[in-house]
Amino acid sequence: MEPLFLYNTLSRQKEKFEPIHPPFVGMYVCGPTVYSDVHLGNCRTFVSFDLIYRYLLFCGFKVRYVRNITDAGHLEGDHDEGADKFAKKAKLEQVEPMEIVQKYSLGFHEVMRLFNALPPNIEPTATGHISEQIEMCKKIIEEGFAYEVNGTVYFDVQKYAQKNNYGTLSNRKMEDLLANTRELTGQDEKKGRLDFALWIKAKPEHLMRWPSPWGQGFPGWHIECSAMSSKYLGAQFDIHGGGMDLIATHHTNEVAQSVACNHSEPVKYWMHTNMLTVNGVRMSKSAGNGFLPEELFSGKHPLLERGYAPMVVRFFMLQTHYRSTLDFSNEALSASEKGFQRLLSAFKLLGNLKTSEKSSFNMEEFKLKCYQAMNDDFNSPVLIAQLFEGVRIINSVNDAVGGVTISAADLEEMKKLYNGFVLDVLGLKQEDTTGHSDELAEQVMSAVINIRKGARLKKDFTTADIIRDELKKIHIVLKDTKDGVVWEKENQ
Ligand code: AMP
Ligand code: ZN
Repeated sequence: MEPLFLYNTLSRQKEKFEPIHPPFVGMYVCGPTVYSDVHLGNCRTFVSFDLIYRYLLFCGFKVRYVRNITDAGHLEGDHDEGADKFAKKAKLEQVEPMEIVQKYSLGFHEVMRLFNALPPNIEPTATGHISEQIEMCKKIIEEGFAYEVNGTVYFDVQKYAQKNNYGTLSNRKMEDLLANTRELTGQDEKKGRLDFALWIKAKPEHLMRWPSPWGQGFPGWHIECSAMSSKYLGAQFDIHGGGMDLIATHHTNEVAQSVACNHSEPVKYWMHTNMLTVNGVRMSKSAGNGFLPEELFSGKHPLLERGYAPMVVRFFMLQTHYRSTLDFSNEALSASEKGFQRLLSAFKLLGNLKTSEKSSFNMEEFKLKCYQAMNDDFNSPVLIAQLFEGVRIINSVNDAVGGVTISAADLEEMKKLYNGFVLDVLGLKQEDTTGHSDELAEQVMSAVINIRKGARLKKDFTTADIIRDELKKIHIVLKDTKDGVVWEKENQ
């Protein structure tokens, strides 16, 4: 098998993927903060890691994929002083904070299901791992890299930076980091400007609180990922991922916590996805430019001309490499819809292509190019371009044009390849673009075609024509072939 190369944020270059304990791979991805619905930007990151997870499985690795749910400890503005987002939302909706967690966790799972993302092997929650986080805070204090002030525990970044490179992941120097952080005032409890909270003292009104050696409080955001990743994947594991926006603070602090606690770099390969943007602006909860996936599927949003099926949206996302920005537009989605239809139509044709003595193309080379694309840092757009090259071959064989032929053995290979790369790796399902399952559409169309056939047999051409015309109105065309009547969705 050809080696797999992936881009490591830590070394800022592509590296050959060599898991610590092959064939096992430990992969941790920072999951959603469930105080509100996930938007399409969040989904892009999770769909990208779904592609990565699927390809690792496809290559035969035994992956333990852990994706957490942040259900506590997230304060507004990502500072240690802001209001708790869960408590704020609970107050607004007049429910318990854990009802907020449940509501948005269920919503997130449903969206992931619609996008056909495989569930992770473990989905730990921050509130379910309070004791692990407290233990880790205690260890960091013991190691001398954290201190307590009035019930809150801070990580001592200055002290850590004396022996370690704090800006290693973000490639930034301490002087620059300090220059970009506000000066401390007399009201600040922390000693250093860059220090961050590991454990936060609960104010009287704070509902989500737990007892700790430092009194009633709740964990800071960063500690949950260090505690849960090391619990399920060990102190050193293979892949840690998330969106690029997490590099500077969340992941930088995760590295510092783990190194302070375990004296070793926690992660071999750091992987980050680029942002989904709308008119060039990053989609985010705070910017208010976030589409909910349901709005995109139904088309009910002022910026949308119409709705798009989840598989079309997934295809649209995969047509861009995960490390490039992806700008949302109606035009791009429409183009993806057409492309996806073309790919599916060719996929269907594979079932009954006529074979020849020899293939007019080199199947081995074709197959190799698919693997090479994915082995080059999971380059799904290059893989899709290669699959379209296959679509051209399939259509030419079907139409018997250009002298393009395929042998029986190569056809079998091609079917295996398309099943593997389209269904298993890209995770696309054979839905029609309205979001109906292919099976249901086939059943309904088969019934309609039979009714029309019956009408024609009785020489009732008026009914037969009405059926054809009505179908045409919804862009479905009937074609007579030697194997009978088949239906197709027209490209609009
Ligand atoms: P959050 O729920 O805000 O913690 O984000 C969950 C995941 O979505 C994180 O890995 C973020 O980096 C990622 N994310 C947030 N906004 C975007 C965006 N516009 N495009 C891609 N990923 C994003
Ligand atoms: Zn995290």
